[in-house]
Amino acid sequence: MKMIFMGPPGAGKGTLAAKVGEMFKILPISTGAIFRSAMSSGSALGLKIKAIVESGGLVDDQTTVQLVKERLAQADVQKGYILDGFPRTIPQAEELAKFSAVERVLNIRISDADVMERLGGRQVCRTCGYNFHVIFDKVAKEGVCDHCGGEVYTRNDDKPDAILKRLDVYREQTAPLIGYYREKGVLYEMQAMVKFDDTMESFKKSMGL
Ligand code: AMP
Repeated sequence: MKMIFMGPPGAGKGTLAAKVGEMFKILPISTGAIFRSAMSSGSALGLKIKAIVESGGLVDDQTTVQLVKERLAQADVQKGYILDGFPRTIPQAEELAKFSAVERVLNIRISDADVMERLGGRQVCRTCGYNFHVIFDKVAKEGVCDHCGGEVYTRNDDKPDAILKRLDVYREQTAPLIGYYREKGVLYEMQAMVKFDDTMESFKKSMGL
């Protein structure tokens, strides 16, 4: 199945995509993760986008679409994928439609207050990408991932100013995609849940699975 997971930053798209990917044996593809890995490798792409990503802005559509187009041309995603964090603008969605036929789009709803609480305390593993939280899901040993032993850090774009900017950007540029996909008849919606088990239940119910 070819799917898109949408929602404000902090809605839980990445965590849900990892689990659903396992369930359906399809790969989650996160443009944010691709950009972060380019930034930490110091590649030309990484250097070009670092300031934008860290401030909470969006990378330009042309760069982003090209990257996704190349990724979706690879053999391991021909049967399906979950796009996490792409498209984020109407032009990106229009370009995507030219090279891949998306079957379902899931929109995860969450309030701004919950986004601030979740992202303000988020810590991420640099190696496996697992999301911890300083209150709700603490690491056993400071700075070390419980699952793979990788380094756990706070993303620069999870600082309060950047979170507020990401919410503004979401409202202005990404939220219009909800109507865009509703009109195409492929939109499914669910509420973000506190507990992961509830999230999975809500996901299955919303998608009729
Ligand atoms: P995420 O991990 O999805 O929160 O993405 C982190 C950051 O990467 C975003 O705040 C943007 O700066 C950049 N980014 C990720 N996906 C996109 C996209 N589809 N278009 C433009 N920028 C993106």
